[in-house]
Amino acid sequence: EEENYRAELSEPATSVDGLEIELLANIELATEMNGAIANGARGVGLYRTEFLFLACDPALPTEETHYDTYCQIAKQVGDDIVTIRTLDLGGEKFFNRAFVREKEVNPVMGVRGVRLCLIRKDIFRTQLRAILRAAKEYKNIRIMFPLISGVREWRVTRDFLNEVMDELRAEGIPFEENPTLGVMIEVPSAAMVADLLAEEVSFFSIGTNDLIQYFLAIDRANDDVSYLYDPLHPGFVRLLSSVIEAANKKGIDVSCCGEMASSPLYACLLILLGLRKLSMNPSSLPIIHHMIRVMDFKKLSTLISDPAGGPTGDHTREAFLKAFRQLL
Ligand code: PEP
Ligand code: MG
Repeated sequence: EEENYRAELSEPATSVDGLEIELLANIELATEMNGAIANGARGVGLYRTEFLFLACDPALPTEETHYDTYCQIAKQVGDDIVTIRTLDLGGEKFFNRAFVREKEVNPVMGVRGVRLCLIRKDIFRTQLRAILRAAKEYKNIRIMFPLISGVREWRVTRDFLNEVMDELRAEGIPFEENPTLGVMIEVPSAAMVADLLAEEVSFFSIGTNDLIQYFLAIDRANDDVSYLYDPLHPGFVRLLSSVIEAANKKGIDVSCCGEMASSPLYACLLILLGLRKLSMNPSSLPIIHHMIRVMDFKKLSTLISDPAGGPTGDHTREAFLKAFRQLL
């Protein structure tokens, strides 16, 4: 079966009823890009730059290391987009030994993502300079910021980016003056003000891994509570729906780069909610591509008219499975 899915990969990911879905890859290393393209990726929806820091541990990557890596990826991807996410260390994610910090009682809600970058501006500056320089060479590069909690934090981050641009300008170094900027929607407060954020950024990528963790109050690394980790929780589906609606209403680009996008059932849900762009680990691309090509989303939407309508996630899960038995 897997081989059959592969044979179709050169065909577009268009559903039976004509919906065109864009499939992109989440990557952690530049060396993954060839395999991702072979699996049908039309660009990079999430490049997790944490792994660049791991590779250089215990030193920090230099501006040239950043720059060379970003150019290498953008070159392989050609005309499709490459979404470079700025450093998202902290929380449950490993640390580079160059910036071990004091132990936090609640690291997942502590200094991680953009919060860490705004404390360690030296590290942030180096990375932003490299991305801005690479984006001048490769117009397909766009910049994404993790763990933004709302408009205030976004503006502080953007102001720092502007400072870095001023520095490059003063030094006479060529860089992209008009980079495409977006944010991860992975903190519930950001999701709740998605309409306001949509006024200030060019794209959203919904990080369901963290968004579920924070929204349902379930540590994503704690097995004892993992049974509560339900992407179909009606409250969560409502939240997702409002984020996608806010982005679509404003006309900004929106995608999902959390694990949800790589599950056929959840990918169907995201598409029903209005998402047209999914980014996932490269190995999941063939099955999702196949699922889209055999699905009639118009019919599915008549069978699942309100994906947040049931009292529990299990109710919704049953409804999807029943619909699939009917349609496939
Ligand atoms: C997410 O939180 O859904 C996400 C894609 O980011 P990460 O898994 O790297 O935290
Ligand atoms: Mg995340």
